[in-house]
Amino acid sequence: MAAYTLPELPYDYSALEPHISARIMELHHSKHHQAYVDGANNALAQMAEARESGNFGAINKLEKDLAFHLGGHVNHSIFWTNMQGHGPATPEGEIASAIDEFFGSYDAFKAHFTAVAMGIQGSGWAVLSWDPVGKQLVIQQLFDQQANTAQGTVPVLQLDMWEHAFYLDYQNVKGDYVAAFWNIVDWNNVQDRLAAARNGTSLLLP
Ligand code: MN
Repeated sequence: MAAYTLPELPYDYSALEPHISARIMELHHSKHHQAYVDGANNALAQMAEARESGNFGAINKLEKDLAFHLGGHVNHSIFWTNMQGHGPATPEGEIASAIDEFFGSYDAFKAHFTAVAMGIQGSGWAVLSWDPVGKQLVIQQLFDQQANTAQGTVPVLQLDMWEHAFYLDYQNVKGDYVAAFWNIVDWNNVQDRLAAARNGTSLLLP
């Protein structure tokens, strides 16, 4: 069974400053993301033990652990590649056309996505996803690491709204964190993910 591993970041920990500090990036990647990787591997190992022993008494807990930790691993793996430190950018080409088509305008999309991020009760993510059933972009409010989204939707842009993602830099002022995020989105990555999702080659991970 393949073990999950922590992916390298495509940039230095300091690359996203001043929008996200190197200290947050280091803790978030090397500690938080690592813990999700370890948790997912651990859940799979315990499931294998349960099959071997025939004792499935803890299976509900293990299934929840797998959903949470594998969700965390996937979410962070996408999130890191959704960002860049080269400077502010706006969507162009296919991704810009798709945003206009499904949300009316880039400004309307940003307002919708920002409201979803700001409205999360507890921990979660704002997610722009391709829905292959309706063949359209949708914005989802992901609870924790794994809940409140539909099976089969393919995430193309994710913003981590857990407090560990911003509290050292922004304390309780999460609106400033969300506003800063728009300066560091890697729209080329979002474009690549959208193109792959539309082709049915999900490009879930880099
Ligand atoms: Mn996180």
